Amino acid sequence: MGIKVVKFGGSSLADAEQFRKVAEIVKADPNRRYVVASAPGKRYSDDVKVTDMLYRCYELARNREDISEYYRQIAERYNSIIRELGLNFDITGELEYIKNGIQHHTGRDFAASRGEYLNSLILAKYLGFSFIDAESVVCFRENGTYDGEKTDALMREELKNHPYAVIPGFYGVMPNGTIKTFSRGGSDITGSIVAAAAEAELYENWTDVSGFLMADPRVVKNPRPIRTVTYRELRELSYMGATVLHEEAIFPVRNAGIPINIRNTNEPDAPGTMIVSTSSSYDADTVITGIAGKKGLSVITIEKDMMNAEIGFGRRVLDVLEDHNISFEHLPSGVDTMSVVVSTASLDNQRERVIASINKSVRPDSIVCEDGLALIAVVGRGMVKAKGTAARVCYAISNADVNIRMIDQGSSELNIIVGVEEHDIEKALNAIYSEFVKG
Ligand code: ADP
Ligand code: ASP
Ligand code: MG
Repeated sequence: MGIKVVKFGGSSLADAEQFRKVAEIVKADPNRRYVVASAPGKRYSDDVKVTDMLYRCYELARNREDISEYYRQIAERYNSIIRELGLNFDITGELEYIKNGIQHHTGRDFAASRGEYLNSLILAKYLGFSFIDAESVVCFRENGTYDGEKTDALMREELKNHPYAVIPGFYGVMPNGTIKTFSRGGSDITGSIVAAAAEAELYENWTDVSGFLMADPRVVKNPRPIRTVTYRELRELSYMGATVLHEEAIFPVRNAGIPINIRNTNEPDAPGTMIVSTSSSYDADTVITGIAGKKGLSVITIEKDMMNAEIGFGRRVLDVLEDHNISFEHLPSGVDTMSVVVSTASLDNQRERVIASINKSVRPDSIVCEDGLALIAVVGRGMVKAKGTAARVCYAISNADVNIRMIDQGSSELNIIVGVEEHDIEKALNAIYSEFVKG
């Protein structure tokens, strides 16, 4: 049997009780040789993640406020885990060193990264595994982008020295030695990097849900777990806000052909979701695999008679966006209209300038920018074979008394994108879910 790389998220390592579950899972299979750990997450719904506490500590220090009391609470999160596990392990020196670092402005990323650093030290001790500091194996380039080649070479070498190891997620090192983190939720990326370097047979991502669900459980009640999803379907879903797995976590394992298994630490016997490269041996049991939606979008609608005959029109519009550092989310177009969907936040402080530049560049008959749009992606590899899926989506949404602002089916027939008013998104998601998942 091949190697398994296992990543545990914040809620899976939030306290001593969760640590025990994690150890049981790791020890149940000797192939689970490399463990990637997150910082302690929430223990209950209005708890605060240690990563957020560390960011706050950094802000306090930056405003020259005393961090002692607040930092004491962070230290207590770790000390209580050690105490309740009955470990003979003293991290006082580590805690002091980190506090000092934060007080002396070692950097925002340094502060945040210490959440996974400390948790991984404790977990390594508890499991009796080696500790490999991500700082010595995960590298970023001068410009802040992740350096896959360098990391892969270093990681492969280091893993050879340790049959069993814990590696902290979320961070790595810049060429000058300072700590840099991935974006939030980035431990998923570290797990994927380790799996690729270990040439693992499987990357298990342990979290607090029994797999990737067909819809966000915070919006749709008790959605069904998805048994198998392809990387392409998952990309579409996570891009639209189904955030069980960090979007960038897909690439290292997909390129290496390693499947990901999303599992639940609190329900270890559930099979979870398998994320695979090709679905050939996995027939879809439902027409749609999943749905996801995202809010906070604006649509810029540009109209001009005979637009279709004007060569370079679209490019000039997109050039303006590029000049303002705005990426577009979606581009539904008609013969004489072009709509560009962008995130409302990206227009902050430059909305008038962007509109003026488009006006100047393509001289449209009209240009309107409206906020409050939400997009929904209905995704499924089963759609190619099923007739009338778009019609069913529209029927379900209009039956729920929700107005459809736009609809677009990707040419790959893997997804249908629907635009609705932001305040209608929950209603629309529930309507689509019920239409396709009966009973
Ligand atoms: P971790 O801390 O383990 O990395 P995350 O909080 O990042 O976990 O991801 C798991 C959470 O993602 C779930 O608790 C759930 O609230 C949320 N979520 C959003 N969309 C979905 C979905 N389609 N399926 C499952 N969970 C989802
Ligand atoms: N602890 C980090 C965060 O809260 C990274 C992670 O959990 O993946 O974003
Ligand atoms: Mg996560």
